[in-house]
Amino acid sequence: VNDEFLGPLVGAVDQGTSSTRFLVFNSKTAELLSHHQVELKQQFPKEGWVEQDPDEILQSVYECIERTCEKLTELNIDISAIKAIGVSNQRETTVVWDKYTGEPLYNAVVWLDLRTQGTVETLSKRIPGNNNFVKSKTGLPLSTYFSAVKLHWILENVRDVKQAVEEERALFGTIDSWLIWSLTGGPNGGVHCTDVTNASRTMLFNIHSLEWDIELCEFFEIPMTILPNIRSSSEIYGLMKAGALEGVPLSGCLGDQSAALVGQMCFQDGQAKNTYGTGCFLLCNTGQKCVFSDHGLLTTVAYKLGRDKPVCYALEGSVAIAGAVVRWLRDNLGIIESSEEIENLAKEAGTSYGCYFVPAFSGLYAPYWEPSARGIICGLTQFTNKQHIAFAALEAVCFQTREILDAMNKDCGIPLSHLQVDGGMTNNKILMQLQADILCIPVVKPSMPETTALGAAMAAGAAEGVGVWSLEPEDLSAVTMERFEPQINEEESEIRYATWKKAVQKSMGWATG
Ligand code: ADP
Repeated sequence: VNDEFLGPLVGAVDQGTSSTRFLVFNSKTAELLSHHQVELKQQFPKEGWVEQDPDEILQSVYECIERTCEKLTELNIDISAIKAIGVSNQRETTVVWDKYTGEPLYNAVVWLDLRTQGTVETLSKRIPGNNNFVKSKTGLPLSTYFSAVKLHWILENVRDVKQAVEEERALFGTIDSWLIWSLTGGPNGGVHCTDVTNASRTMLFNIHSLEWDIELCEFFEIPMTILPNIRSSSEIYGLMKAGALEGVPLSGCLGDQSAALVGQMCFQDGQAKNTYGTGCFLLCNTGQKCVFSDHGLLTTVAYKLGRDKPVCYALEGSVAIAGAVVRWLRDNLGIIESSEEIENLAKEAGTSYGCYFVPAFSGLYAPYWEPSARGIICGLTQFTNKQHIAFAALEAVCFQTREILDAMNKDCGIPLSHLQVDGGMTNNKILMQLQADILCIPVVKPSMPETTALGAAMAAGAAEGVGVWSLEPEDLSAVTMERFEPQINEEESEIRYATWKKAVQKSMGWATG
């Protein structure tokens, strides 16, 4: 590495559902210099439950930071050039911990977890008539997906947590809060905060006033004293307390989907991106306007890049299961040994041969919001083999994206001319081609796929008091793109999409029927 081209460096923690990464970028060129990744365990203690160990998550962050710093040193890059660190994280996942010991009081309840289905039904009955106060304040439908219901469940069912709340020892946070509090010192002066994007996924946050909402906290029976302080997505929250980067400011924080929106430079009204990770999330920037959807999309905070900067909102289409279906084929059926292998299987098949796979493992999110749906594989014949099922699994991700894009087009009125994509699954070229075919528009992927981490690094580098990154679009003008053009005709695409919709109808109602 030639030092002449090295500007100040910025690090980013990308804490996802599948794995944790730490990445270091050159702020001058946005070039990725080094990174380290650790895959994470997920626990499924009961049907529909999904948990992670908050300590394992925290240790994976430390390990990724230390290993990345070692790799940089091996490359003769001075780690003291790292001027700031940003955090991007899986959203909604709920942690409660003890502020004196720093110990989690329960496993993290992951966003995909369905245990609160009953809680949601009970709470819905408490909302009088056609009163829409939860949706109008938060932009979200009452669902198992968001933190408030998970936290309500924990407070009701976990004795240690109840007791800690009574003794004023408990703190709540989404993963960003848990990490920032721990990294800035934990019980010894850790900063208990969250940013507006993460707060907007808790269902306790008023997206208009940008504050915790008293009425919502009362409705979900959440004591406000356990909630973190709300900050912008780009400001100094505190300093790293330990490790190779001790003393470096933590100065960026964005929920992963917001981070990807920033990393893809979707700063203009109407610009959108779709991220394919464990789930799949299409966000469209609506600028300073809060747009409410009539078609099953969420209204959410996109970012607020500085204390005095305006807040921007997004419309979001959320799909619960995307990469998770590939992991399921690997871990539960064992038909592949690694996620990458699905590409070859699907290539061998070249078609699903009439097989449709609706991976509604956690019910269906957008545009249906149907918790009673469960996964189905249909259209099987004597001829169907694992290759066809692999193909159908990839196609399912594309059909689900088509459904949210259709909803987005209806809500926004101006159809997207192309789709900007990123996330772990976009390394799969078959998937990308299928997506272009099913959407009938080009799919465009940046050659540097780590846009989530880049967004967090940009927010951290641009923070007041750090100032090593300016958020001007030309910053990334050098980024090259890979394009996938539609290759099948629209009619064929429509027929397949119509059959998919039939399959979706069959997946509904399983959990209650
Ligand atoms: P997250 O941010 O949710 O942790 P990532 O963006 O890291 O997710 O993507 C990981 C997911 O993508 C996993 O569910 C994995 O199964 C899937 N995945 C990774 N590589 C491929 C591939 N080549 N083809 C299909 N799926 C893949």
